[in-house]
Amino acid sequence: MQFDSGKSRRSKIFRKNFRYSSILQLYEEPPTEKVSLSEFEEYAIDRIKLLKIVENVGLKHVKGSEEYCMAIKKEMANGKLEGLPLRLKDHSIEANLEKVMKKDHVSHFILRLAFCRTEDLRRWFLAQELDLFKLRWSLMTADAQKAFMLENRMHYNPISDSEKSEKLTELTASTFRPSIHKSNTTLALNTDFYKVPFTEAIELVRTRKVYIEKGQAYIPSNEVIVLIQNYFRMKISAALVLTTKTLSLMEEDDRLGPILDACAKRHIGIEYVTRKNIKDGEVTPEMLDQLSKESFPPCMQQLHHNLKTNHHLKHNGRMQYGLFLKGIGLSMNDAIRFWKTEFCKQMDGDKWDKQYLYNIRHNYGHEGKRANYTPYSCSKICSMTPGPGESNGCPFRHTDASVLRQRLQGMSLNREGIDTIVEFSKKGHPQLACGKYFDMVHNQDIGFTPNHPNHYFDESRNVLNPKVVEGQKERPVVKPKLVPTTSKQPLNVKKELENSSFDEDLMTMDME
Ligand code: SF4
Repeated sequence: MQFDSGKSRRSKIFRKNFRYSSILQLYEEPPTEKVSLSEFEEYAIDRIKLLKIVENVGLKHVKGSEEYCMAIKKEMANGKLEGLPLRLKDHSIEANLEKVMKKDHVSHFILRLAFCRTEDLRRWFLAQELDLFKLRWSLMTADAQKAFMLENRMHYNPISDSEKSEKLTELTASTFRPSIHKSNTTLALNTDFYKVPFTEAIELVRTRKVYIEKGQAYIPSNEVIVLIQNYFRMKISAALVLTTKTLSLMEEDDRLGPILDACAKRHIGIEYVTRKNIKDGEVTPEMLDQLSKESFPPCMQQLHHNLKTNHHLKHNGRMQYGLFLKGIGLSMNDAIRFWKTEFCKQMDGDKWDKQYLYNIRHNYGHEGKRANYTPYSCSKICSMTPGPGESNGCPFRHTDASVLRQRLQGMSLNREGIDTIVEFSKKGHPQLACGKYFDMVHNQDIGFTPNHPNHYFDESRNVLNPKVVEGQKERPVVKPKLVPTTSKQPLNVKKELENSSFDEDLMTMDME
């Protein structure tokens, strides 16, 4: 797939008398129209509402499924968000096309300003914009999709008929699932295939949906969205980083600054900095073994178990687990005691002080730039790429399906539930898998889906003992299934987004 540089092209949005042909935009050109302050605020709030809907529905339904699409439409109707539609079919929208597209365009750029400030905000914004983009794409007709690609200079050429005939057996076998209704060979003959370097279609390679030969992946036309979404992600990601350069100007503006601040805060809900979840407000190192069995999500159980077994965790594991412990209420002094006790079962105390103490004090904002670091969210953990010997990451994202099944079977969970979890995991829905797992180990069906490991922990404490979390509704006390610890390392990892960027203070530290 090739894209023109497009330097000489002005976005069609600014052309006189232009009629939009597609609801999709790549948001390459910033808006230059006048926007009143009240419009600015209204646009920002509506787009946040829309992105929150996309996020929340994505946590409850399989993305791309019919239920997912229906649920988003329903939520949008409830939230009166017709001003930011998913498609342009509706006549009432066509009548207000210019207005609707302006709102979509401007609101995207407003949120770019609000969400470019930190890595977490950028990650959240990019993930929701990508899901919205995919959803809108899926609702377009094949002709509209082709027109969009042409308009946006996405030039590609299907492989020739002779090349297709030559590779027909391989293309058929690797691309289509066996079907009793249609001949797969006929399907392959009627499908266009595009040849691109396999690195541009890692998602499809990972899920074994394409044929690869000599480093080239053969993408069927119905999967071409993967290439377009990669392009969209790359563009928005780079634009967000560039936008940070304008931040100082925005912060000086006392009309826009507060609106942008409020936008950024609005998406997060609870920020898990340091919370008191346990009676009397204290989590101590002595409580962690029991808590890990009862209430830790599998990503943290895995780290706790590996730390206890090997008396060591590599840097990324320490960051993931250390900030989670901070989030559940382990104080800095207790964290130092906990980590030192474990590590010093195989090294001397002086060496530990030199190599690891700074890292813990840094996480609690007592060293370096003294920032108050927050625990990692599910989306951040899922986007990590655990290397050999590392146990960070999400087991529902980074563990091979057969290994995951084996571990779940070891916990005596029922077969139907295990099948559901493994299926969610295989299809790339780790949080849905985790939610199902939560319901099963807590012996109830509350339809919970975590968006953060500390969210999982809080919900678990609330289910197990409703009185321990302040301000939450009481529920009957339930007895959890105690979870056996796991010892295997994550397998089959893949990089989805760029790696986390670390504070420069940490770059000089031990990365062992
Ligand atoms: S979905 Fe989130 S909470 Fe659950 S195991 Fe994965 S990272 Fe942890």
